[in-house]
Amino acid sequence: MDLFSCLSPFVFCSFASGSSGNCYYVGRQDEGLLVDVGISAKQLLKRLIENNIPLDSVKAILITHDHIDHVLGLEALTKTCPIPIYAHADCLLGLTEGNATKNTNVSLFHEIEPMQPFELMGITIEAFPVMHDGRGAMGYHFNYEGHTLTIATDIGMLDKVVKAQIQRADNIVIESNYDREMLEKGHYPFVLKQRIAGPFGHLSNEESARFVAEIYRPEIKNVMLCHLSENNNTPERAMQCLYKQFRLKHVNLDANTSVFPLPRHKCTGFVYL
Ligand SMILES: [Zn+2]
Ligand SMILES: [Zn+2]
Repeated sequence: MDLFSCLSPFVFCSFASGSSGNCYYVGRQDEGLLVDVGISAKQLLKRLIENNIPLDSVKAILITHDHIDHVLGLEALTKTCPIPIYAHADCLLGLTEGNATKNTNVSLFHEIEPMQPFELMGITIEAFPVMHDGRGAMGYHFNYEGHTLTIATDIGMLDKVVKAQIQRADNIVIESNYDREMLEKGHYPFVLKQRIAGPFGHLSNEESARFVAEIYRPEIKNVMLCHLSENNNTPERAMQCLYKQFRLKHVNLDANTSVFPLPRHKCTGFVYL
């Protein structure tokens, strides 16, 4: 058996993660979809080339919510390349009103009902609502031939629904936005600090680390920390926090589990799910 035949056919690739832009590829290597287009269309095309993903193999775009760091390049990309766009009805409405997205071709829009699984390219997709102050904010759970992934980004609070959707996946992308101390001592205005730490803002390192440590099982292949704040976090702090929670909960990481933060601007390359 050669090396490649034992790798999973289901892959994830992060092109960008964080408040300066979010964009992920999910699918097979020859055909897949994007979750968010929060980088410019030009940047996206560059990253697709870097990863040997032809643009015409991107068959769909799923949007988590209408904040600019998730939709910046959407209008320009779909102007030249009419890829169907899937999102919650409220998010689609938000796109028609957002400065960067208001001229997006609405004939590409497809409404997603939360908690109603549907299929694209043989991938079963289930969207679920998350508490966040973007319109129609949702996370996504994917299942391709038993390989599972949950993407849970931009979340103010881990409620029951979100926890269950993360818990059922063997591969997890979970927000680890800010270090509490850095946010508290930082220069952000008080109102903004309150918004970030509030129930409709973002998840702190500690909140996501505690939860990951609580639900960890050796079958989990990848834990990827996403949407790290540039000003209120560092990849080192996020990882230290997670390892601390693993220690406190006496978690022994299996040799087959990878745990890492998604880089802000750099691609991860293919992560086999
Ligand atoms: Zn965001
Ligand atoms: Zn957001």
